[in-house]
Amino acid sequence: MRLYHVLRTKQKQYFYSGTTRSEEFRLHQLDKLRNVIKQKENRILHALKLDLNKSKEEAFTTEIGFVYAEITLVENALKEWMSPQKVKTPASHTGSKSYVIHEPRGSVLIIAPWNYPFQLAMAPLIGAMAAGNCAVVKPSELTPHTSAVIAEIIGETFNEDYIAVVEGAVEASTELLREPFDYIFFTGSVAVGKVVMEAAAKHLTPHTLELGGKSPAIVHRDAKLDLAAKRIAWGKFLNAGQTCIAPDYVLVDETVKDDFLEKLEKHINSLYKKPWKKGQYPRIVSEKHFDRLVEFLDDGEVLIGGQYKRDELALSPTVLSGVTWNSNVMQDEIFGPVLPVLTYSSTAEAQTRIRELPNPLALYVFTEDSEVESQFVEELSFGGGCVNDTIMHVANPYLPFGGAGPSGIGAYHGYDSFLTFSHRKGMVKQTTSFDLPIRYKQGPVTHKLI
Ligand code: NAD
Repeated sequence: MRLYHVLRTKQKQYFYSGTTRSEEFRLHQLDKLRNVIKQKENRILHALKLDLNKSKEEAFTTEIGFVYAEITLVENALKEWMSPQKVKTPASHTGSKSYVIHEPRGSVLIIAPWNYPFQLAMAPLIGAMAAGNCAVVKPSELTPHTSAVIAEIIGETFNEDYIAVVEGAVEASTELLREPFDYIFFTGSVAVGKVVMEAAAKHLTPHTLELGGKSPAIVHRDAKLDLAAKRIAWGKFLNAGQTCIAPDYVLVDETVKDDFLEKLEKHINSLYKKPWKKGQYPRIVSEKHFDRLVEFLDDGEVLIGGQYKRDELALSPTVLSGVTWNSNVMQDEIFGPVLPVLTYSSTAEAQTRIRELPNPLALYVFTEDSEVESQFVEELSFGGGCVNDTIMHVANPYLPFGGAGPSGIGAYHGYDSFLTFSHRKGMVKQTTSFDLPIRYKQGPVTHKLI
């Protein structure tokens, strides 16, 4: 007995009714979604506090504000995105027009992680709705309060034939993945990404995998060190380092290491000391993750931080020195407030080290030298990133957001979300006013005829 067969079938029937296709319908539903989020803002913030001890300010900016911005962008651009896109037509096709239709995919499955549990369920959903789909959302079981609010918001606003939430853990996901959805959008770990891809292969379901990896922050010797230290401290330790694009480790030119570390300590203290002391710093999501992170403290010398309270799952912003490439902390994505600082003596050495690891989800390089910049930005493969900043690329909805190879397949945000949840159907409309005899004589029409 397939548990979610009925739900998916009902969504498919609703999709076939054609209701979800019109621009008016899509915009109206997105407006309803925004209104209900507005009404329940305090409930969402409270859930995020209970699940991850996120402060109101941080939760609003990174979770709710982000979602509003995505809806507003869709409202302003949907008409243009939905219009059939004219493309050139070669001379061999004289008499015809060519265009691309953006067809909604149907009933799509969205599986979300726990680290930004509201935003990472809602942002793909907005893309799915903008593109005219029905959707089933599976939030993370590790953030149960936020999962419950998401279920409440969707349940009170939409009929489940259109948008539904299925709460639960691996079993729920596994059952959902047995269904032949028309698209799967997964955000989570590399290991589970492989499980999702295998399940998708059974039905040849197209999919996006938003995964993770070890994202380096490179600090070159000519960098503005104070600014580099401040921006790395902020991007790494936000949400207690539980951000998929947080700098995972720092690679600093060996000649400026000491100076950089001094500045890093100053900025960690000014940004995070107070929230940590007042118990307002985000907590680690589970005991399993907490224990994994605390073990990393033995991998090097704790230069900054290193305090923890297991009963509160609290771990302070921590910097490790003396870590080697073989240390445990350098084997997988850290995903917590532990920052190893390693050094390099030449940019070629730094490049080689980064290439030895799977393609990162993000890369950050701090330098004033455009040649050094291009050595990292152009010659290395990674999802996306910043020059002289960290994590800000995720907040620009005009940029595609996604990984490269092992850190992810596909991209979303803004227009890229619309494209992700649409099938691009290539069409030729031929005239019936005349019929050129040449096409029947020449065998297959090729581009050479142009
Ligand atoms: P996870 O892979 O453990 O879980 C993600 C989702 O998959 C959850 O809803 C979970 O219930 C479900 N799931 C878990 N095991 C499953 C299985 N065996 N079969 C089917 N479904 C299963 O990831 P997580 O711990 O929630 O999130 C952390 C990871 O997500 C990190 O690696 C991080 O880098 C990555 N991440 C990536 C992005 C991105 O945009 N690229 C954003 C946030 C987090």
